Amino acid sequence: MKILIAGAGPAGVTVAETLREMGFEGEILMFTAEPYPPYSPPVLAEYLKSRGKDRTVFWKGEDFAEKAGVNLLFKEISGLDLERKRVYTREGEEFSYDKLAIATGARMWIPVRCQCQGEGDKFYNFKSLSAVDRLLKELERGAERAVVIGAGFIGMEIALTLQEAGLEVTVVEMMNRILPRMVDEKIAHPLQEEVLKRGVKLKLNSKAVLLRGRERAEELVLESGEIVKGDLFVAATGVKPNVEFLRDSGLPLGRGVKVNEYLEAGPDVYAGGDVAEVRDLVTGNTYPHAIYPEAVAQARVMAANLLGERVVYPGGLNMNSLHHFGLPLISEGAMEGEEEPDEEIYIEGKGGIKRVLLKDGRILRFELVGEKRGAGILHWITKRRLPFEPFRDAFVRGRLNTAFNLRFLP
Ligand SMILES: Cc1cc2nc3c(=O)[nH]c(=O)nc-3n(C[C@H](O)[C@H](O)[C@H](O)COP(=O)(O)OP(=O)(O)OC[C@H]3O[C@@H](n4cnc5c(N)ncnc54)[C@H](O)[C@@H]3O)c2cc1C
Repeated sequence: MKILIAGAGPAGVTVAETLREMGFEGEILMFTAEPYPPYSPPVLAEYLKSRGKDRTVFWKGEDFAEKAGVNLLFKEISGLDLERKRVYTREGEEFSYDKLAIATGARMWIPVRCQCQGEGDKFYNFKSLSAVDRLLKELERGAERAVVIGAGFIGMEIALTLQEAGLEVTVVEMMNRILPRMVDEKIAHPLQEEVLKRGVKLKLNSKAVLLRGRERAEELVLESGEIVKGDLFVAATGVKPNVEFLRDSGLPLGRGVKVNEYLEAGPDVYAGGDVAEVRDLVTGNTYPHAIYPEAVAQARVMAANLLGERVVYPGGLNMNSLHHFGLPLISEGAMEGEEEPDEEIYIEGKGGIKRVLLKDGRILRFELVGEKRGAGILHWITKRRLPFEPFRDAFVRGRLNTAFNLRFLP
């Protein structure tokens, strides 16, 4: 049997590894649209800081394909024929498969107009190793002022990384706070203080509408008319699943590839990782959960099902943990604004801030800033959709870890 994996990110790589772990000895053909061995996006910040020298970005080793017995092709897939079981590349080549795993991830989505006359890059981004290599070239050319558009998880990571690399950084965000989908204003406040202390400028409530320049991008125009000048404009405005090559395939598409509970998208076709729309464990809403642990968990289920098992994927859970601010931040569950909570428990103490949002007596989201104690138990309660009441008293008194021990919980 020949299994074709479209994509060599964490999802694609985990599919291949799991297939081999499960004893699959057939052919694995893997495609990547980039000229590199598989790399880990969460390590890109370290890669940039090391000016491209940190090889741990190739977290499975640069010889991953050889070790896993994978035939890795550096070719972009441009089409799929479900009936003939073939994929096509831009160069007109075709490759057959018996089973197909779609793990093509997502790419940057930039909702800002661009009026720059020169060729070359206008917006830079941090979404891929190719993109970070382009950014590094710009740093080598002596860029001094960076403007980051978007203050989400990735935007803040880029901003702090570029600031550490010695650039003067301004972050433009249309909402009234940083990390708007992860935390509310009260939690964002101490983090913003920390960011400002480090010298990063924040322009909140500021919507970027136009990037313009002559030979190269020179200034960003905000909706208010204000102009922010820079040498380097980095978009961190969100991602869009890579599904264009599937448009005429007949596979069910929404924002991403639609899958059932077995992560099946069509006959002998499975999809997982940032490209797939999966049901959220907390809200029941369906969308791509663009985080690493979800990509890996879905890839494992895909691999088992590619080999004929019927493993059900239980659902996705949004989790983010950031340490770039110098104080830990953990947030898990529904995104801010995704669903209205019935109750908020907010505790501010010496150690930091703890916030739990409840709906129908169960955790909708929790956020911890400055203190990580109890995160494991809260994760366990959230994931199992348990009523919060039996844990409330211990949580409020800061005793979750002593009252409950993960080792003894089912
Ligand atoms: C800077 C950064 C930091 C991050 N930090 C964290 C973190 O701290 N924690 C966390 O949980 N998540 C983090 N993430 C998110 C996490 O990296 C993603 O959820 C994860 O990489 C998704 O894996 P994937 O394999 O689905 O997709 P991707 O990693 O996007 O990989 C997609 C693969 O598909 C290939 N491809 C795309 N289109 C085609 C095509 N048409 N033909 C052939 N190949 C194609 C690409 O070349 C690539 O190999 C971060 C992401 C970024 C960008």
